[in-house]
Amino acid sequence: RAPGEPILKVTDLRRSFGGVDALGGVSMELRRGEIVGLIGPNGSGKTTLLNVVSGHYPPTAGRITLHGTDLGGLGAAAVAKRGVSRTFQTPKTFPGMSIEEHLALPAVHGKRDEAMRDACRRGALTLLELGGLDPHDPAAGTRESRVMSHGQLRFLEAAMALGTCPEVLLLDEPAAGLSAAEIEGFERVVSDVAAAGVAVVIVEHHLDMISRLVDRVVVLDLGKVLWEGEPGDLHSVDSVRAAYMGVA
Ligand code: ADP
Repeated sequence: RAPGEPILKVTDLRRSFGGVDALGGVSMELRRGEIVGLIGPNGSGKTTLLNVVSGHYPPTAGRITLHGTDLGGLGAAAVAKRGVSRTFQTPKTFPGMSIEEHLALPAVHGKRDEAMRDACRRGALTLLELGGLDPHDPAAGTRESRVMSHGQLRFLEAAMALGTCPEVLLLDEPAAGLSAAEIEGFERVVSDVAAAGVAVVIVEHHLDMISRLVDRVVVLDLGKVLWEGEPGDLHSVDSVRAAYMGVA
């Protein structure tokens, strides 16, 4: 599987909180259909990078472009509308809303072809099924999100993120709290949508999942890119081992 042309570009991205440089100048590119694993010790800036790219926090400096159009400072709803969807470490759904209502959230517009839309729809349905939330069961549509388990919420949230048919899917620790079988199912969905052209960034502590799934790994440390390369080379890089294994 060969990833396509670069679609998302982050250039010298900075974000500080008070005196802390959570991102101290990060540059990276994401290609169409590419799966990138974002790893690094706690506090290295992984979630902040997702938060800034997805518009949840404005950058302090630097640029984020999607197909050359600036996303920086747009706000989360506008960024999502342009085709960048994400999940959170703690699943965010709307308590009291049924599955049907969650999936009826507006689809985004932009450069998606029919194959990509189909793959996203199929993926979203598979995720619901993995969570035991069969959307074809007439009762499932009225099941309220507040009675779901953590795993079910995680699958519902990921299904919502895919349901908008994003061009870029940002996943924050999607495997946390899932069983091995659930993780395997999740990986299959991610591979399928990436094969159809969706670009995926996964923040994950599960190095096994990273080595099975991703095309490229980006290691952050202290808000900077420490190393970038193929997952097979990860273990041979001493500085990566020192920074990452110290905590993981
Ligand atoms: P990671 O996801 O790699 O664990 P984070 O992006 O969560 O790292 O955090 C990077 C740094 O930024 C940490 O020092 C963290 O305390 C700080 N930080 C992140 N978000 C906030 C926030 N909302 N307010 C203040 N500091 C924050």
